Amino acid sequence: MDSRIETYIRQIPALAEAAAGKEMLWINDRECPENGQGEKTVSGEQIEDAAGRLARFAPYLAEVFPETAGRNGMIESELREIRAMRQELNQEWRAGISGRLFLKMDSHLPISGSIKARGGIYEVLKHAEDLAFEAGLLTEKEDYQKLASCEMKEFFGRYKVQVGSTGNLGLSIGIMSAKLGFQVIVHMSADAKQWKKDLLRSKGVTVMEYESDYCAAVEEGRKSSSQDPMSYFVDDENSVNLFLGYAVAGERLKSQLEEQEIQVDSRHPLFVYLPCGIGGAPGGVAYGLKEVYGDNVHCFFMEPTQACCMLVGMATGEHDRVSVRDFGISGRTDADGLAVGRPSAFVGKVIEKRLAGICTIEDRKLYELMRALMKTENIFIEPSACASFAAFFHPDEMEGYIRKKGLCDCMGQAAHIAWATGGSMVPQDMAEEYLNTWKQA
Ligand SMILES: *Cc1c(COP(=O)(O)O)cnc(C)c1O
Repeated sequence: MDSRIETYIRQIPALAEAAAGKEMLWINDRECPENGQGEKTVSGEQIEDAAGRLARFAPYLAEVFPETAGRNGMIESELREIRAMRQELNQEWRAGISGRLFLKMDSHLPISGSIKARGGIYEVLKHAEDLAFEAGLLTEKEDYQKLASCEMKEFFGRYKVQVGSTGNLGLSIGIMSAKLGFQVIVHMSADAKQWKKDLLRSKGVTVMEYESDYCAAVEEGRKSSSQDPMSYFVDDENSVNLFLGYAVAGERLKSQLEEQEIQVDSRHPLFVYLPCGIGGAPGGVAYGLKEVYGDNVHCFFMEPTQACCMLVGMATGEHDRVSVRDFGISGRTDADGLAVGRPSAFVGKVIEKRLAGICTIEDRKLYELMRALMKTENIFIEPSACASFAAFFHPDEMEGYIRKKGLCDCMGQAAHIAWATGGSMVPQDMAEEYLNTWKQA
């Protein structure tokens, strides 16, 4: 271990715990109030523009993915209060949750069953629109259902889309691109589950498999794409478009909270817990929420103890210049959606003044939480998504944060949202295997 890393471990207690493989909750000391966050990396107009684009595509999506027709082609998930799970967490795990607990069910998003259906699909649509506009085949005023025609599919068929993925991003990009008619290559890391590769191949997607980790798969994809002028690479490490697709969730959640008459203001704080891999999905959602709610929303990222890349990047301020392996952390986790060893520099820098903190959780607990949610609410979510409950294992650190923010006397009016990032596409036999993993006799 180099001396720079040793110094960080000595100076930052959370990093010492992380390096020892322990669960912890780190409060971000670089977080600033809204008026001190400096220049915006993406503007409110850019997020609005992204929302407008998704609205233009909605009639097309409703036609080609009938499962989206119920919401008129809008890719959105339910926000559901989980009272029984809250009670279970408070009674069996002494979580001490005050206020109400909700599950944001991106696990059940249409088309690809994970949070990646937000950013991933958005970026493919944006690319398709750019190409069609440029070729003079489409205008903003036209009905986008036209994109389902054979002529348009043939047009897109001349182009290629590529992406590196641990699984869920590949599913979103692959399914959407193939539907439009693109040639698609998904570069999968060793963590990717077999059923995801099978599903993609069944849709005509080319799946390249690598023995290496996520970052290497991304690198292969980037290289392969750069050699082909007709190819477009979805870059999970740097993409502003992915980020914008996720950020649209902010306004969407606001509408849902209003519909359910859940107040958010300085005396009714909103706590949001987001499972984090490379950072794009949780970063984009958190950014969108901060744009809407400012200082009244408190966003925490959740990571596996063995793949806490955003923690090491953010706590040191080194972002993508450090990886978990530098700290002697393996990078291996059953939470395949979060199995990332090096964080996105782009997201880290955008979010570092806005993030409340980062919490880590052991794999074994992910399965226990999965069973608890199944038992109490009859909802299945995948291991990665279960990380959204991790903060409830650290009531003391949370209390410290609440005190620091002067919220002690209003937590009874708080709303907590565990962001369930994936699960509904997991095949039945896999789900059962998960539900039996690490089960005590
Ligand atoms: C990708 C993913 C995440 C995290 O998203 P990042 O952009 O990698 O941080 C969380 N949960 C699930 C299920 C995912 O697939």
